[in-house]
Amino acid sequence: MSRIAYVNGLYQNMREACVNIEDRGYQFSDGVYEVCEIRGGRLVDMPRHLARLQRSLSELRISMPMPLAALEVVMREVVRRNRVRYGIVYLQITRGVARRDHGFPAATVRPSVVVTARSLSFAKNQATAAKGIAVITVAENRWPRVDIKSVSLLPNVLAKQAARDRGAYEAWYVDPQGYVTEGSSSNAWIVTAQGSVVTRSAESGILSGITRAVLMEILAALQIKLEERPFTAAEAAQAAEAFVTSASQIVMPVVAIDSRPIGDGVPGPISQRLREEFHRFSAIS
Ligand code: PMP
Repeated sequence: MSRIAYVNGLYQNMREACVNIEDRGYQFSDGVYEVCEIRGGRLVDMPRHLARLQRSLSELRISMPMPLAALEVVMREVVRRNRVRYGIVYLQITRGVARRDHGFPAATVRPSVVVTARSLSFAKNQATAAKGIAVITVAENRWPRVDIKSVSLLPNVLAKQAARDRGAYEAWYVDPQGYVTEGSSSNAWIVTAQGSVVTRSAESGILSGITRAVLMEILAALQIKLEERPFTAAEAAQAAEAFVTSASQIVMPVVAIDSRPIGDGVPGPISQRLREEFHRFSAIS
């Protein structure tokens, strides 16, 4: 079955779907995106993803190309046309097409909208989680506005590849003070010897992950202590457990950091439990 993408008003075969070479997303990475998990053909935590999308757009002064409700209809339609039961839907909005010039184009230029969806292997994802993943640490080198879900991801691309080159799955950024900020495409968490779950505050240095926000509610419901504070790479190395969160991975246990085992070197009980509990709490629509 050929895959279908939505591009500026049309549902097109992926092989034919294309954007203008003067699209500002292509020229300047001048755009934002969202990734939403699909379970049972339905969208996970969609309202929160749309709220974050709105915020990213407004921070970059890109106008909303269509009402949120219409955007949601398009996303569902792309999921339906691609017959995705488990996977992700990807939405990208750029500042539109205009003659290349750094400053914003005329207000009449319409933002470009692209939506794609892709099936993932649930079994493969579960198998990865059962084994746990390795992460490496890299120096933080991104701009300070990582709270905006911008498509400008070059440092993230390089960090992810550095991880793969070293046989790892994710890279954790470490800031000049030694604190872990987040992963190249995930939020970073540790569990202390006392059983507290620790993650950096979303005030600075990280994208405010939707999975992270839902997980905080789960911790409260399960009466697991949360410490929202920065932690160093040195503290992470000594942690009882570690894990990452993202819409496509949900809770993914980390079993090694920079080739050194975390805890017993296998997925920890709290990480595993949180992964299992996640979809009892997430909003599926
Ligand atoms: N941080 C970064 C840099 C990311 O790319 C992602 C994934 N989009 C996350 C955190 C996790 O966010 P979410 O839980 O909303 O997928």
